[in-house]
Amino acid sequence: MYVTGAQWVLPGLYRDHFPLLHPDKDGKMVHYLDNSATTQKPEILIQATSFFYQNFNANVHRGVYGLAAQATQAYENVRAAVARFIKAPQAQEIIFTSGATESLNMVANWMGQALLKKGDEVIVSMMEHHANLVPWQQQCARSQAKMVAWLPNEKGELDLDRLQSLITKETRVIAVTHVSNVLGTVNPIREICALAHQHNILVVVDGSQAVAHIPVNVEDMDCDFYCFSAHKMFGPTGLGILYGKKDLLNQVTPFRFGGEMVDIVTFEESSFMPLPARLEAGTPNMAGVYGMGATLNFLKSVTYDAIYLAEQKLMHHMFQLLERMEGIKLLGQASERVPVFSLLFEDMHPGDVAQVLDQMNVAVRAGYHCAMPLHRYYQAGNGSLRVSLAFYNNQEDLEALEEGLKKARKLLVR
Ligand code: PLP
Repeated sequence: MYVTGAQWVLPGLYRDHFPLLHPDKDGKMVHYLDNSATTQKPEILIQATSFFYQNFNANVHRGVYGLAAQATQAYENVRAAVARFIKAPQAQEIIFTSGATESLNMVANWMGQALLKKGDEVIVSMMEHHANLVPWQQQCARSQAKMVAWLPNEKGELDLDRLQSLITKETRVIAVTHVSNVLGTVNPIREICALAHQHNILVVVDGSQAVAHIPVNVEDMDCDFYCFSAHKMFGPTGLGILYGKKDLLNQVTPFRFGGEMVDIVTFEESSFMPLPARLEAGTPNMAGVYGMGATLNFLKSVTYDAIYLAEQKLMHHMFQLLERMEGIKLLGQASERVPVFSLLFEDMHPGDVAQVLDQMNVAVRAGYHCAMPLHRYYQAGNGSLRVSLAFYNNQEDLEALEEGLKKARKLLVR
């Protein structure tokens, strides 16, 4: 029920545009609070994907016939739209991948092969998702470089003084997330890049959890690489973005080889295409890319200003809810944050709580959220229960969560 007349009425911004969130014929609906794992899809994306298959489906960058040219044009238009969306200076600096994981692996793989050598150091924050941690472990092992941990403080923030103290003459790269998928912390990427660049260090940013919440301006942040997945920002699955500064992307060794990315091929050797094709081997996710264009238009009409306001209200409401509950500790208290809340329970296992919530149609995530080292660092051995909100979440979602948490206590605590 909406609390009418109260200051914190939460209607759920643009909620009607998300079919999966609609109540069914019996009035039942899912209270989807697992938006860090993946976001729900607006109708316009669903329609655009099907429109592509019905009207534009031909392989891109290959055929000379009209349909193929149309498909290619549509594909390249979205590349330009993504560049404008994250304020990348040139469309060529946008590489379509299968997801943030592939984007991050592509960068780490290149660095491990071409840049890192024995004795070099890579600073990786302790709040990284495994996708921005394990590739560095692998590449450091391969090149005999050393991984250096940048530890967050007790509030769950990354401190620049601490970073300064970790930088040495051997530091080559800093790998850091824009927004933590566990703590919700928004990290000061602009300041991190400024400090790193004073020491000629490259900065690889994992933007996966930022894009649903805050506008991204890669030029202003001056990061060297920025990686994210479309499905975390109301876009299609199976599509990722790798942004890189052009001079760096030009040096990145292809991660995959095959059609599309080659220029001249003889039986013995091949030459490669210029950017961006060089880094996009094989048939890409064309319908996904087309759908992404629709999602970007949708987000433009929603606006990040409106998202900010909706999420501030959601956060306020969520903090009040947590204050009313017993035996819950919030992991991370950063002052710059998005509505991602990882909860620890004094006397319940997060997995058990998630099951009780599921019975009430409340979808949350329990476990380590692909950030085991961070949980270990905060001595959260059982993992946590993550409630991750998006602008379409409403009062009823939070009321269902509160009711579910109370029920879990009744059932699970003796
Ligand atoms: N980085 C962060 C911070 C994430 O939250 C995730 C997914 O949860 C990823 C990277 C990996 O994204 P994907 O699985 O879409 O490649």
